[in-house]
Amino acid sequence: MTSSRWFLLAFAAALALLPQLPVPEFWVTQLNYIGLYALVVIGLVLLTGIAGLTSFGQAAFVGIGAYSSAWLTLNLGLSPWLAVFGGLALTALAALLLGWITLRMSGHYLPLATIAWCLSLYYLFGNLEALGRYDGLLGIAPLSVFGLPLNTGRSFFYLLWALVMLAALAATQLLDSRSGRALRALKGGSTMPEAMGIDTFRAKVTVFVLAALLAGMSGWLFAHFQRSVNPSPFGLKMGIEYLFMAVIGGVGQVWGALAGAAVVKLLEDQLQVLLPRLLGGSGSYEVIVFGVLLVGVLQYARDGLWAAVVARLPRRARRRDWADAAPLPEAARPPHGELVLDVHSVRKEFGGLVAVNDVSFQVRAGEIVGLIGPNGAGKSTTFNLVSGVLPLTRGEVRLRGERIDGLPSRGIARRGVSRTFQHVKMVPEMTVLENVALGAHRRGRRGVLPAMLRLERDEERRLLREAERQLQRVGMADRLDELAGNLALGPQRLMEIARALSADPSLLLLDEPAAGLRHQEKRALAGVLRQLRAEGLSILLVEHDMDLVMDVSDRIVVMEFGTQLMQGTPAEVQASAAVRAAYLGTEH
Ligand code: ADP
Ligand code: MG
Repeated sequence: MTSSRWFLLAFAAALALLPQLPVPEFWVTQLNYIGLYALVVIGLVLLTGIAGLTSFGQAAFVGIGAYSSAWLTLNLGLSPWLAVFGGLALTALAALLLGWITLRMSGHYLPLATIAWCLSLYYLFGNLEALGRYDGLLGIAPLSVFGLPLNTGRSFFYLLWALVMLAALAATQLLDSRSGRALRALKGGSTMPEAMGIDTFRAKVTVFVLAALLAGMSGWLFAHFQRSVNPSPFGLKMGIEYLFMAVIGGVGQVWGALAGAAVVKLLEDQLQVLLPRLLGGSGSYEVIVFGVLLVGVLQYARDGLWAAVVARLPRRARRRDWADAAPLPEAARPPHGELVLDVHSVRKEFGGLVAVNDVSFQVRAGEIVGLIGPNGAGKSTTFNLVSGVLPLTRGEVRLRGERIDGLPSRGIARRGVSRTFQHVKMVPEMTVLENVALGAHRRGRRGVLPAMLRLERDEERRLLREAERQLQRVGMADRLDELAGNLALGPQRLMEIARALSADPSLLLLDEPAAGLRHQEKRALAGVLRQLRAEGLSILLVEHDMDLVMDVSDRIVVMEFGTQLMQGTPAEVQASAAVRAAYLGTEH
């Protein structure tokens, strides 16, 4: 058993023992509140810490879960165990609706939207006659197990903390899976994950609903523990506090959610007593302290408390349990010489600037085509047009006869086009292996629920085996467990190539793969490219290293100022006076 498992077991045992000890009821109640908060904060960790979507509005989902279960038990006489389904269904529905509308918004609009809906739901709770307006609903049934009501803090404690531990476990297992990697890739923008075939909007809606469900569950427990609900715990102030707990605990850390909930709750209690005594009068002074603390944490301990602890622990290498996994099925490669990519008169304008002007070229199966030209010639833009990252202004792109221009980049990725980026795009806090496995995303199927329950391990092993195989191919098999963000630029580029290969592409687009590589690494790269060509892969290569391009390319397309200067074999290009003129002064 690993040390973290031991730690968990010890933690669970301590929790189980605690209510049996003669601790004052007050402390049990405190722990119950911490547990209720922690459920919400675990969701927020996934949403904000992992996926990068900031929400001030989680308290509203707690409210929906609480009110709907309370209403169902009071008005329809349902058992809380049945009402929970109604409560969670309504929470999910609300989250789906809100997510659908707001998750397409970028930047600061999303947090603002979460504030808006938190405020409006608060007033809705407070003004609906059926929900008792600001007085709320009273006399809600307690939860009971085998006829025994959980109406004391100690009896409620077990159910609550069992659910908290399960939620934390499910969340950590989710993060270590195909779906989890997709969520972790969201924070860096959608370009890279979409190019790996990931539907980022869908992933965002999923994590949003998941976080809302955890909040709704907390609300359900709260309603039947407190046995009354009114709007006040579901307002914006609480929404901000949840976010504060997540930030204090470490927004990227599932177990940090527990730490954050505990610290904030205990601190709040102390401050609520202390501050009015110090400052006189009465008021929610603790909010001011929290604000100051929040700024401090963001300034000095960005990743929160738990991350500070975890960073000091030695990182363990991942257990390699995938050696005997079945290889993933591979798509049939087009026969040698078949037309794979047909770029026909493509044009791209950025406002008044024509970045790509009527460029046409073809790539056949088993061929390496170099795309060269001075800086700003339009090479990367051409890549973005082919891979669907940018829409065309005019022209056509066909992949094996099928038009692909107009498709989203994940649609193009799913048809077998895989790419790297001139400016490396990766998830720095994931390991090299995990980053490369992201490339194999489209070759897996299993989603969030199986991942949380660890029912997808067969597929997961197959994906990881593929990732390791591709890392071996680029000579990085010994660096699987390193954090991608700690790599130098050269290895990062090789990692991107391995990631692109994990997608089992028929066409590979490499944007300056040799930039930042050392001489030895470049030679190894050339070897890999030739090997891939021999396997029937088609490669479009943008590269500044002329030795490499001339060495490996079958044909070369030269661009200048967005237009196509010439096409030909390496020998023809080297002999061209026009090409030499284009490079004069810009090539070093
Ligand atoms: P290369 O990769 O050949 O160095 P690029 O394709 O990156 O060249 O750029 C071609 C031209 O298009 C440059 O003038 C660049 O400034 C411009 N350009 C590239 N991307 C954008 C963009 N997103 N918005 C506006 N202009 C762009
Ligand atoms: Mg470029």
